Amino acid sequence: MKALGFLTLTFLAGSLRLFPAPVQDSDKIVIAHRGASGYLPEHTLPAKAMAHAMGADYIEQDLVLSADGVPVVLHDTQIDTVTDVSARFPGRARQDGRFYAIDFTLAELKRLSITERVDPKTRAPVFERRFPPGKSSFQIATLEEELQLIQGLNKSTGKTVGIYPEIKRPAWHRREGQDISRIVVEILRQYGYRTKEDKVYIQCFDAEELRRLRDELAWGGRLVQLLGDKGEECADHPRLMTPPGLRELARVVDGIGPSLRHVATGTSAPDARITDLVRDAHAAGLEVHPYTARADELPPYAPSIEDLLDMVLFRAGADGIFTDHPDRAAAFVLDKLRKQTP
Ligand code: CA
Repeated sequence: MKALGFLTLTFLAGSLRLFPAPVQDSDKIVIAHRGASGYLPEHTLPAKAMAHAMGADYIEQDLVLSADGVPVVLHDTQIDTVTDVSARFPGRARQDGRFYAIDFTLAELKRLSITERVDPKTRAPVFERRFPPGKSSFQIATLEEELQLIQGLNKSTGKTVGIYPEIKRPAWHRREGQDISRIVVEILRQYGYRTKEDKVYIQCFDAEELRRLRDELAWGGRLVQLLGDKGEECADHPRLMTPPGLRELARVVDGIGPSLRHVATGTSAPDARITDLVRDAHAAGLEVHPYTARADELPPYAPSIEDLLDMVLFRAGADGIFTDHPDRAAAFVLDKLRKQTP
């Protein structure tokens, strides 16, 4: 059904030009989660370049602000688990013992080295088989530096890799006196990302902020509601994952980004089963991009990342996947499509 719809739209776009051309070549997109983060420290420009070379369709940017209001590409508002901030700026932690990007100017953030992610208490690497913490030299990148890298690589390679920025903790940023969404949208527009035909999805856990992006900030590009079960932003998410909740979301956003556990479950391979979420979301007209497929952190029902990808993309029918290993996902999707095409 879905393939038929896709073909029909493609035909109509070609013959009548009533509909925008589809932005992706296949209908399964590979989103490089924090770059090729399975191989290089997350959110560094080398990890983004590697993801681009590995065949990702989209590359993710998690965004927080510096003290001087510059969006930087970092997963957390706290920066002590991915940088050497505690050694370089001792005494700049908050009362909770953590160091926050928003307490440092961009010039100060640029003096830090990014390292492979470590546990905040033990300082042991979170993923043992990945890039060794503290080795080589990596810097925090601004959103603009990353957009220039991806657009530059698109030009030099002839590819059209998209971007997938996430607005991190907008309500928290407001309490800190900063409007992160307004700043990010302004930069995206400057770099040519404006409409649903452009290769961009803005993602956020905060449903209220997504409405604000659409209405108050007049963002005309695609939006994705992230769905999880941790923290204040997710309090309403169990309701949003029901059919009426999904229909409500579809009035604002183009897709959802649920956690893998909301799409597939099971304690072993024979016990593997899919939930109704992808079907219900498709019925509401929403795309589904679950997070996160990792070759070195698999759910108990998936013996390999390929089994996991098959389960999520082809058995559950999700439209894309966030993955730390974009090479594995791109190869798997390509191979599957080859087998499907006579
Ligand atoms: Ca993210």
